[in-house]
Amino acid sequence: MSTADVIRIHKHGGPEEMRFEQVDLPAPGPGQVRLRQTAIGLNFIDVYTRTGLYPGPTPSVLGVEAAGVVEALGEGVTSPKTGDRVVYNGLGGSYASHRNAPADRLVKIPEGVSDEDAAAVFLKGLTVWMLTFEIRRLQPGETILVWAAAGGVGSILVPWANAQGARVIGVVSTPEKAALAKGYGCDEVILSSEDVAARTKELTGGKGVPVVYDSVGKVSAEASMKSLQPRGWFITYGNASGPADPIPPGRLNQGGSLIMTRPGLFHFTKERADLERGSAALWGAMRSGAVKADVRQRFALKDAADAHRALESRATTGATILKP
Ligand code: NDP
Repeated sequence: MSTADVIRIHKHGGPEEMRFEQVDLPAPGPGQVRLRQTAIGLNFIDVYTRTGLYPGPTPSVLGVEAAGVVEALGEGVTSPKTGDRVVYNGLGGSYASHRNAPADRLVKIPEGVSDEDAAAVFLKGLTVWMLTFEIRRLQPGETILVWAAAGGVGSILVPWANAQGARVIGVVSTPEKAALAKGYGCDEVILSSEDVAARTKELTGGKGVPVVYDSVGKVSAEASMKSLQPRGWFITYGNASGPADPIPPGRLNQGGSLIMTRPGLFHFTKERADLERGSAALWGAMRSGAVKADVRQRFALKDAADAHRALESRATTGATILKP
């Protein structure tokens, strides 16, 4: 039996509940492969799992995304092969040096993309694919509003939306983040301390935007709805400030027959064909230069609690990687 170094919680709570431990790792079972992980993607979802906002059992190994190399194959696995470089998202237990993973959830990393870059973009980039292609196809020439434009998802959403012909208004908390968001391709940036809806109206000749991508949740929902034009789309896809309060259907009518959705990526990639379609779109966007991985923080796996503290205190920008 071999072992793996992992970050595990035994109960939900703050970063102090994250323990660096060694666990036994059995041989990969039927349909599984053993991975030696090389780069682990940090995601805000990991915070929700740690606190229990997204319910799950304990004890459990945190994390849902990583890249690595296939070391051994379980019974019946024909692809990937030993030595292949692969990446995944949506599989719990990624904060680990080694793990067993179902072969049919792994995607090969293309030539020219490093393991670290793959782990930086695979979950966040597929989220952007979901947001701009699957839920509602972004239209060239439209102006969109993006919250947390200097964050991990923001660093991909802004340039990929630009490449699809959209003009992006970003919302961020500080002037430093505003400069970064402009670098990602925002035409205009609003500070979250301003009246976001009023500024959005100003920047769109009084009309408002046809779609808002809101990952902040509790404190941003109302401003997002007020920023929309009639029949606009309120896409609320995260809870960085806490979950949005309940919204009565009548509020959508008052806003101008608004459309609201609260998507989760894993519903969009459950079928293998969809996972491959989204991955192909993401790798294509990287090949064309529309999307670039922007790893701006790296932590050793054993220091994952410090990475959580940084993410939750809004101290990170772009993507963050944990190194096993
Ligand atoms: P980010 O790197 O974007 O970090 C979160 C950002 O949210 C912060 O940097 C901060 O930017 C902003 N923020 C606003 N209010 C708060 C607050 N009270 N506490 C902390 N941060 C706050 O994280 P990710 O890229 O990992 O994820 C972005 C969002 O996308 C998350 O909400 C996540 O849940 C969501 N998501 C949803 C998915 C889905 O399937 N629905 C899939 C993947 C991600 P600023 O300081 O500029 O305000």
